[in-house]
Amino acid sequence: MKPWEANIRRVTPYVPGEQPKKENMIKLNTNENPYGPAPGVKEAMENFDTDLFRLYPDPAAGILVDALAGRYGLERGQVFVGVGSDDVLAMAFLTFFNSGKPVLFPDISYSFYSVWAELYGIPYERPALDEDFCIRKEDYYRENGGIIFPNPNAPTSLAMGLSDVEDIVAKNQESVVIVDEAYIDFGGESALPLIQKYENLLVVQTFSKSRSMAGLRIGYAMGNEALIKALNDVKYSFNSYTMNQTSLVLGREALRDEAYFKETLEKIKATRKRSMERLSALGFVYPEPSANFIFASRPGTDAKALFMALREKDIYVRYFDAPRIDQYLRITIGTDEQMDALFRFLEDYLRKDPL
Ligand code: PMP
Repeated sequence: MKPWEANIRRVTPYVPGEQPKKENMIKLNTNENPYGPAPGVKEAMENFDTDLFRLYPDPAAGILVDALAGRYGLERGQVFVGVGSDDVLAMAFLTFFNSGKPVLFPDISYSFYSVWAELYGIPYERPALDEDFCIRKEDYYRENGGIIFPNPNAPTSLAMGLSDVEDIVAKNQESVVIVDEAYIDFGGESALPLIQKYENLLVVQTFSKSRSMAGLRIGYAMGNEALIKALNDVKYSFNSYTMNQTSLVLGREALRDEAYFKETLEKIKATRKRSMERLSALGFVYPEPSANFIFASRPGTDAKALFMALREKDIYVRYFDAPRIDQYLRITIGTDEQMDALFRFLEDYLRKDPL
């Protein structure tokens, strides 16, 4: 080993779902929204004043922070924005999880959490979900250096009731509890109202799923002013200008069209319901989904082989080769047409594999 190599930080990175660029592929692997962003976003993009690119953007991301504060009935000091919720969550780990005590998150959950913990040298423990993939709130009633979990959870799509979320927050007022609500608009009840009651609660959401803007990278956190100030202080110590001018303007635009937002959500929920029925008829089982994906398994059918066969036909779903979940596929809800193509394939594939 060369001397300089000894001083390199070694990390095992998070591996995102693949992003193939094939013309006729059916992409149901990274929980993107099959519908485009609100029409006003396209219009704002077309009329965008590129002369603005000469200047640095507002480091406080004012126009987007204000738009979010308006949308959720908050003060601007209660909102933080970042480059996707991944950026917001990475900042939050760095800002809040410094006690040296283990941070707690479920064994089956968003796999980025352990990557950030490793990156920053934060100790962590992962209480196991129960056999139905539910979070056992009692597992979080012990000394810890912070708590984070997605609600609805990923990749299971299962939501936890608000009173259970509140119990976890209330019993842990000595540490920061982060509820990662990347999928909350598709189902489940947001913990946002609880930020007025609990100083230790941070709620994180994203434009990537329900607002169809994964490509623009916008995420945000909402919590009491002391938490948001601490996040901003860390951000300003890292990079003053995380949010580019385009994201600020187009993000604000997306928030203006509540009708389109609701309409898109309803379409996805209707397709999810239809997809659940089709999957059940084909012999799949799955936890009750509340997000824009279904976590499905078929007794007697090997999930990895099915994943590979689908991939061969340019139908992409997500497979996790991990303990307890290696017989499941995480299937994003696409359009009705995309789901029909998936079901046509499954019907054919399973003909040789009857129950
Ligand atoms: N949290 C969860 C639970 C997710 O599944 C994702 C998507 N990979 C994210 C956060 C991050 O999403 P984004 O950075 O696009 O906001």
